[in-house]
Amino acid sequence: MRLTKFTDLALRSVMRLAVMRDGDAPLTTREVADAMGVPYTHAAKAVTRLQHLGVVEARRGRGGGLALTALGRRASVGWLVRELEGDVEVVGCDDDPPCPLRAACRLRGALRAAQEAFYAALDPLTVTDLVASPTGPVLVGLMNRPPA
Ligand code: SF4
Repeated sequence: MRLTKFTDLALRSVMRLAVMRDGDAPLTTREVADAMGVPYTHAAKAVTRLQHLGVVEARRGRGGGLALTALGRRASVGWLVRELEGDVEVVGCDDDPPCPLRAACRLRGALRAAQEAFYAALDPLTVTDLVASPTGPVLVGLMNRPPA
């Protein structure tokens, strides 16, 4: 199973925000885009989706910027990935044209079960878990590196 680039970018953005400490200057969407090496518009779409999910909040005005919400810190990674990916099967049984086997296909059921097992493996993890050592310190180090 392969996640969309959108989901991966959203997860990376969440991880970046999760390593911010008290006293750090809030990040802007532009800084998130630059840190991830992606176009601003891609980062903006991911941030907007994360805001709609209640995972990220944007504070306006002087000293404003992006921050993880309390929900964002304790959110299950399985829940987050499900929300970002949407209710999409791993194969296009109902595409146009639909697969003629779809009404009686054992493979379809097996793939659904495998997909659910994939999400279930992510369910016990929180966003905070994702940035525990060694990931968090490495992530902070990468972000603090001066531009080449
Ligand atoms: S063979 Fe089964 S799993 Fe594959 S597209 Fe057809 S219905 Fe879906």
